[in-house]
Amino acid sequence: MESLPEILNAFEQALELERELGTRTVDCDRALLAPVLPASSAASPVLGQRASRPLPSAASAATPALGQRASRPLPSAGALGEHALPQGALPTAAELAACTRCGLHGLGRQHVVPGQGNAASPDVMFIGEAPGADEDRQGLAFVGAAGQFLTKMIQAMGYTREQVFIANVCKCRPPNNRTPSPQEMEACLPYLRRQIAAIRPKCIVLLGRTAMSGLFPGQRIRRGTWYEYDGIPVIATFHPSYIIRFDPDTDPVGLRAAKTEVWNTLKLVLARLGKRKEERKT
Ligand code: URA
Repeated sequence: MESLPEILNAFEQALELERELGTRTVDCDRALLAPVLPASSAASPVLGQRASRPLPSAASAATPALGQRASRPLPSAGALGEHALPQGALPTAAELAACTRCGLHGLGRQHVVPGQGNAASPDVMFIGEAPGADEDRQGLAFVGAAGQFLTKMIQAMGYTREQVFIANVCKCRPPNNRTPSPQEMEACLPYLRRQIAAIRPKCIVLLGRTAMSGLFPGQRIRRGTWYEYDGIPVIATFHPSYIIRFDPDTDPVGLRAAKTEVWNTLKLVLARLGKRKEERKT
């Protein structure tokens, strides 16, 4: 049996995880809250009735660890947008736009999506699968619904999107958001390799199975395990699209488990970067 402090610690960590990934309300049993709610709202609690209570905001004084992480000095290499990428080593937008290495160039794409962010040795480079409809429209990686969850992941780590680099294995949108074929990924891989070589991130986070097999073709990559690519530590986790597909009403347990796994992997990345989360006071 677990001790009460252990249970409380696990509970606190679960709530903090939710907050760090952007959750602002939680469902809970009003009867459980009765001892801590003000008398007016605790009056005549109905067993089983659920109450939505806002979690403390990220800036709350009750969360010193998070506040500290947010103000931790991070490299200010400058936020390089896609159009500000240094010419030469990195594939240029013009070069990518002229690419005909696979069939995707002729399948209705609006923009090639090279990726964007800090290209000067950022702490982290996130690599996804391929642009979706929003990305294709805007020419930027991870700006749709999955991108919003990726933003939460990045912010939970204490970074902004501009401080990391965000890219995809495939630079063009496959029709109907289908998974890129192995041939399409192989054709595009030289661009990603050149990006990694030029950007030299301190760590790479692969988002989802396609990114794993795209960067390491033919190899079995496991989530949450460190690998190396050209001397750079690489780790894989779920794709944000996988997380946002969970219905919190019908599968809250699955959602929590997936989010927890993602956050645990991101904590491994922070630890690898020497930015270990402050030890919690128990
Ligand atoms: N999914 C991806 O893998 N990449 C994007 O840029 C957007 C959604």
